[in-house]
Amino acid sequence: MSTSTRPQFKFLHEALEDLKAKHLYFRLKILEGEQKPLANFDGKEVINLSSNNYLGLTTHPKLRRAAIDATRKFGVGSGAVRTIAGTMKMHMDLEEQIAGFKQVEACVVFQSGFAANAGTVSAILSKDDLIVSDELNHASIIDGARLSKATIKVFKHKDIADCERILKETQDWNAKKLLITDGVFSMDGDIANLPALCDLAERYNCIMMVDDAHSSGVLGSRGRGTIDHLGCHGRVDIQVGTLSKAIGSIGGYVCGSHDLIEFLYQRARPFLFSTSHPPSVTATCQAAFALLDSEAGDRLVKKLWSNTKFFKRKLKKLGFDTGKSETPITPIMVGDAEKAFQFSRELFSEGVFVVALGFPTVPEGKARLRTIVTATHKRSDLERALEIIERVGKKLGIV
Ligand SMILES: *Cc1c(COP(=O)(O)O)cnc(C)c1O
Repeated sequence: MSTSTRPQFKFLHEALEDLKAKHLYFRLKILEGEQKPLANFDGKEVINLSSNNYLGLTTHPKLRRAAIDATRKFGVGSGAVRTIAGTMKMHMDLEEQIAGFKQVEACVVFQSGFAANAGTVSAILSKDDLIVSDELNHASIIDGARLSKATIKVFKHKDIADCERILKETQDWNAKKLLITDGVFSMDGDIANLPALCDLAERYNCIMMVDDAHSSGVLGSRGRGTIDHLGCHGRVDIQVGTLSKAIGSIGGYVCGSHDLIEFLYQRARPFLFSTSHPPSVTATCQAAFALLDSEAGDRLVKKLWSNTKFFKRKLKKLGFDTGKSETPITPIMVGDAEKAFQFSRELFSEGVFVVALGFPTVPEGKARLRTIVTATHKRSDLERALEIIERVGKKLGIV
């Protein structure tokens, strides 16, 4: 008897059937070959508008070389958690390199951006504390907040007045307070109002934390992120970033003061209880930051933005609603979830891979497609994608 039919697992089967009935069930799309602008998913060559590979670094020759060289020289694994025997010299070097790039005192690298957020929020706050969080913050922030057992108060998306209302109401709390936001929001592609949030954090004595997963390598000088882009250096206590998106590999990091990083070395649970990156990953990230902080990196970021502006302008001209996007994340708003999924399916069969997002990833009634262009898309790829999006969009009555 297969496990799925065991009576104690009947609830799983029912839950899956329920998801299918509500059109919320998704199938994994299988990539064969490399993660690139033209890629083979499910055996079909498509224009790929669904990755977070902003600068095309997943297949960059310098990064590939760095990974291979590090594997030859240092092997395939670190063999332990950082706090026992798994801190290699290269781990320390990468942290120092990222701190320099972000212009802060210190940095700690985690196994993923998810671990960085969840590990940090849960380490620095406890049950008597307060977390004030934008309603569209990433799931890893929400999970970290829940793990901390602190009180969580959520303000309306980017609504500074609503955020201040919460801070006023809790002014007398004798608690540590964390004000936390994504730098760029992953479903809408809009940018946080950081200067105003920093003002509030200063006025109400909050620790200010920003998750720059979608902005590092994208916004600011040479991709330093939203803090650089919006002139907020020195005003954000905790900056989180990922090594899994623009950087092209895997991992996450936290930047801040020496004390913050020392404390996370002592207390962040993913740091203490989960093995560190293999040499290939660390060397890849070192090569990525070196590239980013060079003329070649600068050119890639500029190419990303010229592709973004081109694609966004054309989509708008065709009559699509791109929501509040200000970054390479450009949604195409549809509304009805079933229609969004149909749009995505038909685009795929015409040769364009754009993911559809419905509840609970985005609010109910706000289903959409989400496009992400990269620096390595050719203009001709984007033009062809736009033609197909226009044709299918018209057929489905979206424009
Ligand atoms: C992707 C993402 C993360 C998680 O990063 P990983 O390195 O993929 O674990 C965290 N925060 C935000 C806003 C993200 O978009």
